Amino acid sequence: MRLAVDLNRCQGYAQCAFLAPEVFTTHGDEVLLYDSDPDEAQRERLAQAAAACPVRSILVEGGPIE
Ligand code: SF4
Repeated sequence: MRLAVDLNRCQGYAQCAFLAPEVFTTHGDEVLLYDSDPDEAQRERLAQAAAACPVRSILVEGGPIE
């Protein structure tokens, strides 16, 4: 599945890294790295991460947020 994060909106709160640590990792206070082509098995965790992101910057292909 395709995953995108709007890094212009991302504030580095890291809720996503807490909820889906195999997909998102943080480096330092603000730098977020992520897998743009995560395994389908991560979909539920990604949905939770997208819902938890305070600035709604996580976009998951085929998920509730397009
Ligand atoms: S939860 Fe949202 S704002 Fe926080 S690091 Fe993840 S993408 Fe960025």
